[in-house]
Amino acid sequence: MSIADLTELLGVADLGAELRTLLERLYPICRSITGQGVRDTLAILRESIPLQVHEVPSGTAAFDWVVPREWNIRDAYVKNSRGERVIDFRKSNLHVVGYSVPVAKKMSLAELRPKLHSLPAHPDWIPFRSSFYRDDWGFCLEHRRLQALPEDEYEVVIDSTLADGSLTYGELFVPGTTSEEVLLTAHVCHPSLCNDNLTGISVSTLLARYVLAQSRAGRPRRYGYRFLFAPVTIGSITWLSRNERTVEQLRHGLVLTLLGDAGQIHYKRSQRGDALIDRAAVHVLRAAGEPHVVDDFSPYGYDERQFCSPGFDLPVGCLMRTPYQQFPEYHTSGDNLEFVRTDKLLDSLSKCLEILDVLEHDATYLNLSPKTEPQLGRRGIYRALADRGSDGANEMAILWVLNQSDGTRSLLDIAERSRLKFEHVRAAAALLEECKLLQRRQP
Ligand code: ZN
Repeated sequence: MSIADLTELLGVADLGAELRTLLERLYPICRSITGQGVRDTLAILRESIPLQVHEVPSGTAAFDWVVPREWNIRDAYVKNSRGERVIDFRKSNLHVVGYSVPVAKKMSLAELRPKLHSLPAHPDWIPFRSSFYRDDWGFCLEHRRLQALPEDEYEVVIDSTLADGSLTYGELFVPGTTSEEVLLTAHVCHPSLCNDNLTGISVSTLLARYVLAQSRAGRPRRYGYRFLFAPVTIGSITWLSRNERTVEQLRHGLVLTLLGDAGQIHYKRSQRGDALIDRAAVHVLRAAGEPHVVDDFSPYGYDERQFCSPGFDLPVGCLMRTPYQQFPEYHTSGDNLEFVRTDKLLDSLSKCLEILDVLEHDATYLNLSPKTEPQLGRRGIYRALADRGSDGANEMAILWVLNQSDGTRSLLDIAERSRLKFEHVRAAAALLEECKLLQRRQP
């Protein structure tokens, strides 16, 4: 699994442009944890991947939670006495506090003021706020504009509905040759925010297209891949409550989010800390030789909180660039299309593919000629290395694989110990297997 292979198999000339187009189409949609925005988002994804869309009725119990009423919004504004929209939902959906109850009243600035939210430290950005699970309403605006609002009689309208409906999520499963599964999940519940939610959605969609194309091309893969596009927290909780049997097959998982800012790539470990997904991700980030950060698990953040709760304790980590709350644009209108860099998004996609490649190809081998080093020249291995060159196998990798393959150590163990790239170790093992010096033991 690699960017080059993905590009070739999908026949995509400009992968960056492909990702960018998807971001641009999804960006204007007013998403929330329920409602039409999630459906519209999934409908766009369904143009390229056959997602199954699930609707779970309001009031449905999910462990300690209940699926909330569905929220939809058509328009919202604050008009001054001259009839001008001084705050306008049509200009940015961030202007309305998510899940606001309907409002239609006239108010003085003093009465309205407690319902207005701004960011004094970033006076040109609109904050993103929501009032899930409590009946409230409000508007968000640039602090600079808030300060300029004169005393007046304002007409305040939020044309929303909060009513029994459903929670929507999308799911796609692409089978592998075994019953074991990898879960890739992205949240789909933020309105016009780009790095936070749209980058995870777009990378995950590309990965799904790739896995589907591999299946269509008859290329076997060890794992089945399950893609989940769900609202954060209540979405994953609801999914888990309906999929307790499914997760018995789950061997590795990644939460994909915040993949397009200019910061270093971060991997946040699963609660287990040393699951294969943790080791694979850490190896890929280290082997790249670029600045990166590995964070230990904490019960905060995205849906890894739910997947790693003690009743499940699944091997699910989180891949991101700069983590939540650690960049000023987080949850503001500053997290927009310009904030996301295509080169960083592609780098994140590439790292993701490398991690999946380790999962797919990690295996344990036995050296069939373990008493002293076998004579490599006689078997044409040096010639093969010179001929292939490009596939990454090299003499050091050959020597490490021969030395370490006692039937218990895996290729990832060898890559970690040798500090060689997994792909080089894997290529060396493939060459040695061809030369009958190595025999696969597991899986
Ligand atoms: Zn967020």
